[in-house]
Amino acid sequence: MPDSGPLLDTHGRVHRDLRISLTDRCSLRCTYCMPEQGVEWLAKSSILSTDEIVRVAQAAADAGITTFRLTGGEPLLRRDVVDVVRRLARLKSPDGPVQVAMTTNGIVLASMLDDLIDAGLSRLNISIDTLRRDRFAALTRRDRLDDVLAGITAAAESGLRPLKLNTVAMRGVNDDEMVDLVRFALDHGAELRFIEQMPLDAGHTWDRSAMVTRDEILAALGTRWRLEPVPGRGGAPAERWRLHGPGAHEGATVGVIASVTAPFCGACDRLRLTADGQLRNCLFSTHEFDLLPSLRGDASDVVVEDVLRRCIWAKLPGHAINDPSFLQPDRGMNAIGG
Ligand code: SAM
Ligand code: SF4
Repeated sequence: MPDSGPLLDTHGRVHRDLRISLTDRCSLRCTYCMPEQGVEWLAKSSILSTDEIVRVAQAAADAGITTFRLTGGEPLLRRDVVDVVRRLARLKSPDGPVQVAMTTNGIVLASMLDDLIDAGLSRLNISIDTLRRDRFAALTRRDRLDDVLAGITAAAESGLRPLKLNTVAMRGVNDDEMVDLVRFALDHGAELRFIEQMPLDAGHTWDRSAMVTRDEILAALGTRWRLEPVPGRGGAPAERWRLHGPGAHEGATVGVIASVTAPFCGACDRLRLTADGQLRNCLFSTHEFDLLPSLRGDASDVVVEDVLRRCIWAKLPGHAINDPSFLQPDRGMNAIGG
């Protein structure tokens, strides 16, 4: 294992992107992510302090991480989230300044966006699975669609671009809204990205037949627009298409993250830090690398970097969702950090 230079795994993948979960708590209870009740929250004492997060991020940036994506749970529920953004945005990697992005459910975004931008936030992904209030309430178990729409409007009016909206496509739930959601995104200067539903719900209720596949999504969009593949995907999880036809302005695009039917593990450049200090080299890892003893003992920064390198060195070539032997991780998506 190399002890300097970029964060390399045994399959030649260089890691550039660290997803940082700021909390496992959330203001919604999306059915594909969290159970309605009985969530086992992470112990408060194990949640990383902002100093601890910045220490890991500094070690990661020194080793070539160029993007931090803040997630959760709902990252905006963390009280000092603006401070976290400000401190991360100041870090530099050998390639230059880092970028700080965030994935949020948008609920409190409208009131916080100016402060986040002022602190150095560079990109936003906002999740929205339906434009219908009754469906939103059923799917997220909270009647908060108007708050999400206010967050998206604020983001659209801000200068943050590219702006992306995430939708998990579900059979019989929102699969009749796919064209409407893309049009909504275009009207807000955003790119809609459909995500295939993955077996990461804390309730372990995932059912392959309820998942809408990449090909089904493309067929639905194809009834309205001509789709032209956008080349040069690199390590990005989304495949992208340019849209031609009704209401699609010059440069309008849509994305699909086909983690189940067309995995992109060969180009993966991501690792994850959970809110309780566990490093994960894959969304689907069943093994974690515990940073807490190093962060809370008297370990030097060299030791923190060593845990990062060991975590990446142990990364498997792929996630094996489609193998009969696949085991769903114990943590739900809210505690992993999507
Ligand atoms: N709470 C924030 C939000 O919803 O955007 C950030 C955390 S959430 C876990 C991050 C992303 O993961 C969201 O876009 C959500 O739709 C997606 N997600 C959650 N569970 C999923 C699942 N089982 N399959 C696919 N995507 C999922
Ligand atoms: Fe919360 Fe995001 Fe999970 Fe929905 S997907 S329950 S908003 S963490």
